[in-house]
Amino acid sequence: MVIRSKTLRLVILISTVLVTIIIAIQLIWLQKVYLYEEKQFNINVSKSIRSLYSDMELVNDATDNVQKVIDNVSPDVYLLKIDCDPNLEQLWINLKAELTDFDVYTDCRAAIYSNTENKYTTEEYIDLPDSYFPPENAKELTVYKRDYSYISLYFPHRGQYIIKQMIFWIASSGLLLLVLIGFGFSIFYLYRQKFFNETQKDFVNNFTHEFKTPLAVIKIASDVLQQNNIIEKPGRLKNYAGIINEQTSHLQAQVQRLLEIAYTDRSSLPLEKETFDADILLQEAINDLHPLVEQKNAVINTGFNSPGTIIKADKSYLRLCFINLIENAVKYSEAPVIQITTGKDANDFSITVKDNGIGIAKEHQKKIFDRFYRIKDGELHTSKGFGLGLNFVKKVVDTHNGKIEVQSEQGKGSSFTIKIPRN
Ligand code: ADP
Repeated sequence: MVIRSKTLRLVILISTVLVTIIIAIQLIWLQKVYLYEEKQFNINVSKSIRSLYSDMELVNDATDNVQKVIDNVSPDVYLLKIDCDPNLEQLWINLKAELTDFDVYTDCRAAIYSNTENKYTTEEYIDLPDSYFPPENAKELTVYKRDYSYISLYFPHRGQYIIKQMIFWIASSGLLLLVLIGFGFSIFYLYRQKFFNETQKDFVNNFTHEFKTPLAVIKIASDVLQQNNIIEKPGRLKNYAGIINEQTSHLQAQVQRLLEIAYTDRSSLPLEKETFDADILLQEAINDLHPLVEQKNAVINTGFNSPGTIIKADKSYLRLCFINLIENAVKYSEAPVIQITTGKDANDFSITVKDNGIGIAKEHQKKIFDRFYRIKDGELHTSKGFGLGLNFVKKVVDTHNGKIEVQSEQGKGSSFTIKIPRN
């Protein structure tokens, strides 16, 4: 189990790193495409302007280097030097035609700046296919002070237009990301499935063994008890009856465990509440654990409520909770000395099981209530288990609207307290 969770962590880590690298490469590519499209836009606008200069006589010296008469003040604003008052109607028609000829399809606000008046004298909205808003809502155009007159071309939606050109790239990156997420989920799901399958296999193997041995022992003991002369040997009879009794308790415990496992899959438990004395139930739970207590030479000290506390709860589940806590206390202690105390107030019944065992480090204290969680270190951890007991206990306590708390110090011992409403 430990190895598997390590592998899982490694798989997740490697996939995360790979996915991050792929996303980073994708982003770099997108940025490169953006820069390329930006450059392309600039080239296309410059080409349109050049053609405009050759269409119309806008400057006196037509041989002037066109680059010198264009001022690209900001990525979306171009100032085109003019030496005369052009025919406006013709100018706008030509401008629109040149822009579309060179594949510039985003709307443009054009204006004529007069250096004598130091303002725009005329403004025109060139509505190319990618128009976004009616020009009357538009903000005032920025005036760039120059000592010559010029035509200003402002492309308000240049950014959106470039992004639109990249739509294929953005969509394919998005698709790639979705595929990656899909893969991630599938791998995680498959891994989880595999993990559960293996756990289940372990579980079946383990349980077959757990059932087979006591059944074989019972079979032998009952064969002995069936011998004709057994009645004449009361010592032998008592001995074999004792063996059967012990093995039956063991089997009973296993069956209870099966029940827990069957229920740990569900999010809530169906409760069958009845009224009973919780302290008596606790005593019964301790009796159930007699073989284990004897085997480990455990000392169990009790301080029960007297008289006992009558509560309304699911008796069989609560009994399993008590068994689980006491069993853990015995299992995870080398020379177990266990103190079990009960308490009550107006509303609640509480029970504390305190041991002198290996204890639980702080970082594990929350996780021990998770399904299949077992702490991997500690030499005493050769004890069998599936990491389901405390998960079950918590589920039962939660369903009763109660609380479970753990206090523990590594090497010193642990103390589990359950508090549930009496009604
Ligand atoms: P299991 O005992 O079957 O492993 P549990 O859910 O009962 O499963 O317990 C989960 C883990 O919490 C155990 O594997 C053990 O590491 C730790 N644990 C539980 N009770 C104690 C205790 N009293 N002292 C020390 N460790 C404990």
